Amino acid sequence: MTKPPTAPLARPKLRKRIEPFRVKPGSDVKLESDFDPGFKEDFVAKSDATSALAEGAAQLGEYQARLAAQDTYAVLVVLQAMDAAGKDGTIKHVLNGVNPQGVGVRSFKVPEPTELQHDFLWRYQCALPERGSIGIFNRSHYEEVLVVRVHPDILDNQHLPAAAKKADVWKRRYREINDWERYLVDNGVRIVKLFLHISKEEQRQRFLDRIDEPDKNWKFSVGDALERQHWDEYQHAYQQMLCATSTRYAPWHVVPADHKWFARLAASWIILDTLMDIDPQFPKVDPKTREQLADIKKQLTAEAPKESKN
Ligand code: ATP
Ligand code: MG
Repeated sequence: MTKPPTAPLARPKLRKRIEPFRVKPGSDVKLESDFDPGFKEDFVAKSDATSALAEGAAQLGEYQARLAAQDTYAVLVVLQAMDAAGKDGTIKHVLNGVNPQGVGVRSFKVPEPTELQHDFLWRYQCALPERGSIGIFNRSHYEEVLVVRVHPDILDNQHLPAAAKKADVWKRRYREINDWERYLVDNGVRIVKLFLHISKEEQRQRFLDRIDEPDKNWKFSVGDALERQHWDEYQHAYQQMLCATSTRYAPWHVVPADHKWFARLAASWIILDTLMDIDPQFPKVDPKTREQLADIKKQLTAEAPKESKN
């Protein structure tokens, strides 16, 4: 990675930058009018984005080293988006300064039969990051109130008791998700929720790119085009989800994603803000251990090879 020429961002400045993307708990979000997917802030030019992102990645790397040494908190980054919104690129660029041992990415696809034999949060619980590390959910437990809501027949395959499939299922799932996240936060898992918000027109352009460029064909599937036909239903499901599950302890951020460079920067600032809030510290050794270390140092120094005489 190239050495970033820009100075690290101080927390107050960083907070100010990410504030517009945070969904206020209890607010009545109107996705279409409240959040512009094409937004980019004018204090960062596209030409400065690479070095700003490198700076953010380096800062994240330093915080993760302290997070690991402290071994008390984990950070869970929840990434949700429509197809082609840039989840994979965001993960790659935002985390490239972090020690690979301290980060894990888990992608959630259509559940396997074994997963369907458990409650709907089970597979997400099993994939949580351990203390000291950063875990990314590439799609997440929120699919359970997104794709499953847009295609309610999926619910029929979840082997649920009849009462769990009644009309209030989504309201109940929001509550259960909020309760689960509250439990995680209470137990040291800090949660960063990012919705990469892309416009329908930008998705159309990116799909066309994926069809036109042979090297990108693999990124496109017929299923993506089919899901696009449900665009409005997805936007509605996202909107409901944002209203119901942006909480004080785990707020949502709607990241404008039509400009890839800006989405990556904003995501890196939002994750950094949580790490700054945790402010993990290297553990200090107690006086007795310090004495032991001094003794060992003496021994090691005494073991130094004698200078050879020529
Ligand atoms: P990419 O296309 O970049 O590889 P992706 O996340 O879109 O990434 P896909 O394999 O294309 O990965 O799609 C995974 C699919 O799995 C999505 O359509 C998603 O909605 C679906 N999925 C995820 N979780 C669930 C769930 N709990 N129930 C049903 N479908 C789900
Ligand atoms: Mg896909």
